[in-house]
Amino acid sequence: MTATAGPPSTDVASAVSAAAALLATARDVTLVAHVQPDADSLGSALALGVVLARRGARVRVSFAAPAHPPESLRPLDALGLLVAPDAVPAEPELLVMCDTAAPERLGSLLDRLTTARCSVLIDHHASNPGFGDVRILDPSAEATVVLVHRLLAEMGAPIDGVVATCLYAGLVTDTVGFRTAGPAAHRMAAELLEAGVDVEAVLRPINGDHPFTWLDDLGGVLQAATLDAAAAGGRGFVSAVVPAALMQRYRVEEVDGVVDQLRTTSEADVAAVLKQVGPRRWSVSMRSRTVDVATAAVALGGGGHPRAAGVTLDGDPDDVLARLRAALSRQG
Ligand code: 5GP
Ligand code: MN
Repeated sequence: MTATAGPPSTDVASAVSAAAALLATARDVTLVAHVQPDADSLGSALALGVVLARRGARVRVSFAAPAHPPESLRPLDALGLLVAPDAVPAEPELLVMCDTAAPERLGSLLDRLTTARCSVLIDHHASNPGFGDVRILDPSAEATVVLVHRLLAEMGAPIDGVVATCLYAGLVTDTVGFRTAGPAAHRMAAELLEAGVDVEAVLRPINGDHPFTWLDDLGGVLQAATLDAAAAGGRGFVSAVVPAALMQRYRVEEVDGVVDQLRTTSEADVAAVLKQVGPRRWSVSMRSRTVDVATAAVALGGGGHPRAAGVTLDGDPDDVLARLRAALSRQG
């Protein structure tokens, strides 16, 4: 890391102005999303990347894994800024990390955090320990794109339809369709629509477009769901399992929608989906109404937000569920 960025900024406003100053003169910028990138992470990196590329900087956007972005997010890369992780310079001049709750979320690009001449973190996870030279870290932001929007305003960058679409994709998904969005985020959405966002064109591929066979397989997954009304301190816990065969057959757009169905269960405050990513390995998605699932996830080695968190655990599904229940029983 370099001295040019100075000590880590302690408040969001000064971090935003420090980042804007760095980006104003940057000639070569590497923007990275977290592994298994979502719309907030990729939308943040691409929105900022598009603005910088148009200003003449050399820009690349990447993430460590998987090899390709979700199909539904590919249209966000209108300028073709995405590159494979092995095309990321060994020593990036300026590294911008978007929506990365912990250094490990950089995956195989983790080493760039130390080799980069200078680094900027833009994130909104309360569990984030803080890393990088300049840290725009604000858990009160509903999405990382909200912080990118603020940074673009500080930079005096105009927001056109391409940039607005990237920002909107992150905003609408991280707020679960504006359910968790405050007044400022709604104002931001209005500004993005005025800049030219086609809402249906953004949203339909992300969560409204599945193959017919998915209806049957989703039915099977939901039919096998279990409800434990006594768990989560008596507030109820519903869980379902997506086995490896379905993980391989379907896209993330199908699989990640399961938890949205499960979380509608009236008798459960907490919903968890166990997605099989190895013979005995499970990527767990948790959602809640009132229980703090972020603290439960962090206790198990994961992370996230109070109402949406995740963790990757090894073992049989019953072992994993027992560990989730134990962690949830300790949360208020
Ligand atoms: P999702 O369930 O949509 O994949 O993730 C919800 C939240 O939990 C996101 O903020 C995501 O960063 C976090 N999360 C999901 N899985 C993991 C994981 O395996 N480890 C960590 N640290 N965070 C995770
Ligand atoms: Mn996010």
